[in-house]
Amino acid sequence: MRIVSGIQPTGSLHLGNYLGAIRNWVLMQDALNAGDQAWFFIADLHAITLRQEPAELRQNTREIAAALMAAGIDPARSILFNQARVPEHAELAWVLGCTARIGWLNRMTQFKEKSGKDREGASVGLYTYPVLQAADVLLYRASHVPVGDDQKQHLELARDIATKFNTDYGVELFPLPEPTIPPSSPRVRSLRDGGAKMSKSDPSDQSRINLTDSEDEIRNKLKRAKTDPEPLPETAAGLEGRPEARNLVEIYATLSGESVDAVLGRFGGHGFGQFKPALADVVVAHLAPMNQRFRDLLASPELIDRALAEGAERARETARETMRDVRKAVGFFA
Ligand code: ATP
Ligand code: MG
Repeated sequence: MRIVSGIQPTGSLHLGNYLGAIRNWVLMQDALNAGDQAWFFIADLHAITLRQEPAELRQNTREIAAALMAAGIDPARSILFNQARVPEHAELAWVLGCTARIGWLNRMTQFKEKSGKDREGASVGLYTYPVLQAADVLLYRASHVPVGDDQKQHLELARDIATKFNTDYGVELFPLPEPTIPPSSPRVRSLRDGGAKMSKSDPSDQSRINLTDSEDEIRNKLKRAKTDPEPLPETAAGLEGRPEARNLVEIYATLSGESVDAVLGRFGGHGFGQFKPALADVVVAHLAPMNQRFRDLLASPELIDRALAEGAERARETARETMRDVRKAVGFFA
């Protein structure tokens, strides 16, 4: 197993990141056998596809590292680093950008979502973002890439790019990475709009539960979360066409380790006035211990910075090796 996954330092981590990504990273890390390796990186190169304040980006990078460590990523067992410290990511992205086809990128739905109405005004980086993402995983010849459901399309693209590169140059340089999307990882929705995913870059802080929110904030956000006037249904089928209700029930089920039907077996027929405080209890119980570790870590930033610097050194050992092979395959005079 060679596991690679990343997360952008574009704001504070939220429940969607935790349930869709980080929780699975920790489970995978804890299940590593001798000879397996896991690389977890903070995607600062990806972050600047949208405008970032430099001081904020630096602070966010440190905070995300702390949040990952608080959630259970152990820099002694996993390779934890920030992407910009390993220049091979950008170098390989250039080469793979010459392998990927424009038609492939035109099909990527995330670009359409993130560029919105002003497509002409979006950065070139936002458009080629999936190529950099392909480079991120292929650089370490990943076998497994834990991603949330929203990133599945990009991983498919990485496989297409790897296949074409191998074929074009007659090499078997890149193994095809497998997406690892645990069935228990829902795509968590915005608390304000069941049609949008919970996102760090959503301008409304009310749309998400941050891993760093206090108990009061969590309770208030859930109390004000958008719902419909109907009581909860008795079974999962009754959530059809009710995205906000479905979202809250799925969050509850995922955190408590129950099925949606089991949760509805208890709360079906009751209103949200009863369900929301129960949901808040479950969310608070899960996030509170992490919250404390996070605060402790941020009180010693030098520990975080050292872990990131050491992680980058270890990541570069593999990155340099892959790039040596890539340069040779492509025919670069170096
Ligand atoms: P941004 O809005 O800046 O894109 P993001 O919230 O989408 O931020 P990313 O850093 O892009 O977060 O993604 C990190 C990881 O979290 C990815 O594996 C992604 O699949 C997962 N993820 C992000 N949002 C959700 C969500 N709402 N539900 C489940 N998984 C999610
Ligand atoms: Mg995202």
